[in-house]
Amino acid sequence: MRIEQNLASAELQGNEVNSEKYHLMETNYYQSTAKNAQIFSPLDQDVSVDICVVGGGYTGLLSALELAERGFSVALVEAKSIGWGASGRNGGQIATGYQPGMIETANLVGLDDSRKLWEMSVEATQILKTRIADHEIKCDLKEGELYAATKNSHRSWLKREMLFCQDNFDFQGYDWIDEADLSNYIGTSRYKAGLLDHQGGHLHPLNYVLGLAQAAAAAGVQIFERTTALDLKTGVKPVLQCTAGKITASSIILAGNAYVKGLNAGLDARIIPVSSYIIATERLPSDRAKTVLQTEACVSDTNFNLDYFRMSADHRLLYGGRDYVGRHRADPKKILRHHMLRTFPQIADVNIEFAWGGKVAVTRHRLPDIGRIGRNIYYAHGFSGQGLPLSAIAGRILAEAIGGEMERLDVFSRIPHKPFPGGTALRVPLLSLAMKYYQLRDALG
Ligand SMILES: Cc1cc2nc3c(=O)[nH]c(=O)nc-3n(C[C@H](O)[C@H](O)[C@H](O)COP(=O)(O)OP(=O)(O)OC[C@H]3O[C@@H](n4cnc5c(N)ncnc54)[C@H](O)[C@@H]3O)c2cc1C
Repeated sequence: MRIEQNLASAELQGNEVNSEKYHLMETNYYQSTAKNAQIFSPLDQDVSVDICVVGGGYTGLLSALELAERGFSVALVEAKSIGWGASGRNGGQIATGYQPGMIETANLVGLDDSRKLWEMSVEATQILKTRIADHEIKCDLKEGELYAATKNSHRSWLKREMLFCQDNFDFQGYDWIDEADLSNYIGTSRYKAGLLDHQGGHLHPLNYVLGLAQAAAAAGVQIFERTTALDLKTGVKPVLQCTAGKITASSIILAGNAYVKGLNAGLDARIIPVSSYIIATERLPSDRAKTVLQTEACVSDTNFNLDYFRMSADHRLLYGGRDYVGRHRADPKKILRHHMLRTFPQIADVNIEFAWGGKVAVTRHRLPDIGRIGRNIYYAHGFSGQGLPLSAIAGRILAEAIGGEMERLDVFSRIPHKPFPGGTALRVPLLSLAMKYYQLRDALG
């Protein structure tokens, strides 16, 4: 059953409200270990450029960088600071493919387009790795993402996914791990099987985005922090009215993801902001860290309301989970600790030193929504939890499209995205109801 089938009744105010509150209370491990954060001044005058980008996360910066490298003049505005949104808060996990899996994706878009989408997801992780190497971004990149099946039906699904990708896309980057061998990778008896994606990996997400900002600035992108885009006037030369000054451009890219509101109501209604939270333990001595994870890979389970975790470079367990906070459940730190100990009871005595959260933009089909409105407004959002790698391909295909090559953008435009019922006012409370259903389904097995 999909999210939209659960949208039976509505109760105004949802987890979006709690998420805002939580942002104020949080202690973000990534901020405490950020390197080389460059400060960019706010916009204080009118500017005219070829391309203006809204949003200083991966999508905005990678689009800006690709365009600057192609010779366009580019300005980028960020309401807060670089990486303030999901890009500086996420689990740091890099997965190949798309959130619903490739079988469901092929059923939706057809085998031919699913193959093109798959190839672009593989290219996305390659772009990410090349950017890190070329710009010498110090962000603790490690190889491997391990999917852990929480029940027997998920084990069968993972196996089918692996075989589907091998047979149809000739992908050889997966290794199957039987339940008996999983203890060589993860120190828990919770999982039924694993699928290790060697193409995937993990990194320090904030240091990655800060490195991208430096690379973009070095390539000539004008970056303005603490500059909110308040209004967009479309036309042959769209104009973006910002907090203090306006930007006139030939094309605009909207990359505000789950954090943008009001620049285009139609786009806002195509995504739903889902809260996700992460806790970080105190540093674990390396022998204790090895009782938790024997692998260097990060792990993500197969539940709809998934748990995801990995070891940081300084040996802290970072444990995350999606939407633990409904409107009435106030403390994600407690709930996440409970989930962590269900998986790893052996670290019950370990302190939690950091807890933070952010918003993931999810679409109805859990596939990214990337496209063009009219002739010159481009957008990319709704990566549904896989934006760390997929933003890299979004940036590249938006730059290709602005340069006149529409072919790969068209593959994404053909995905039959639909707005959420109820528009922006009801999408969050309706999602809360849907999430409760999925929590129950995950628990029942
Ligand atoms: C807790 C958490 C865990 C996650 N874990 C993973 C993971 O492990 N792997 C993965 O692939 N993905 C993960 N994600 C999702 C991933 O972080 C996002 O898909 C990705 O960061 C999206 O990047 P973005 O640049 O599109 O958006 P964002 O990083 O959200 O950037 C958007 C920016 O736009 C700015 N903005 C919005 N409106 C305006 C405006 N009007 N004017 C100016 N600026 C504006 C915001 O301030 C924000 O900084 C996670 C997300 C969260 C929150």
